[in-house]
Amino acid sequence: MAAVSTLTDYVQAYQPDIERVLISSEEIQGKLAEMGEQISADYEGSSLLLVGVLKGAFVVMADLARYVRLPLEFDFMAVSSYGAATKTSGVVRILKDLDHDLEGMDVLLVEDIVDSGLTLKYLLKNLAARKPASLEVAALLRKTGIQKVPLDIRYVGFDIPPDFVVGYGLDFAERYRNLPYIATLKPEAYGG
Ligand code: 5GP
Repeated sequence: MAAVSTLTDYVQAYQPDIERVLISSEEIQGKLAEMGEQISADYEGSSLLLVGVLKGAFVVMADLARYVRLPLEFDFMAVSSYGAATKTSGVVRILKDLDHDLEGMDVLLVEDIVDSGLTLKYLLKNLAARKPASLEVAALLRKTGIQKVPLDIRYVGFDIPPDFVVGYGLDFAERYRNLPYIATLKPEAYGG
């Protein structure tokens, strides 16, 4: 294994697997700052609870939350969808539930990526049943043209083509989550 001394070296260790950088680190930060400003304006005076869906959304949550200039609380859910690694089946299992009672809270569900929308649809139904004061979604990425269910996503960072992407929280086989950008992988990288 190559020696890893700095963050830059570590990211470079993934370099041979990367096909194309779709969204740079600077573009992500710029967009999250905009989203944070909008959220700050929209939620002023409310009891804002950010709900992150683990594991992918933890990076978005960490950065987005720091662009929101309001008192807020955090909570996390862990879910897994059954099926192959790069496809969604729409059947979702809750592995870790929220610690908060949602009644009366203004809940903003933070997602890394909305692909078919099936996971989000399931989560929204599940969370709505807990009677929050409001329930909205902020997603960093939305894949265009393949949502199987129409979903009202209040804050969207970027619309991207329907390719499998990694980085900024998103993994392939648990790797690449710490890349500071969003990228596609070379076909060889899927080979294991
Ligand atoms: P959906 O139910 O919207 O089809 O998919 C939601 C979940 O599938 C995401 O939260 C994410 O975990 C995973 N997913 C969907 N597309 C991608 C992708 O391009 N890359 C990665 N790494 N995960 C994805």
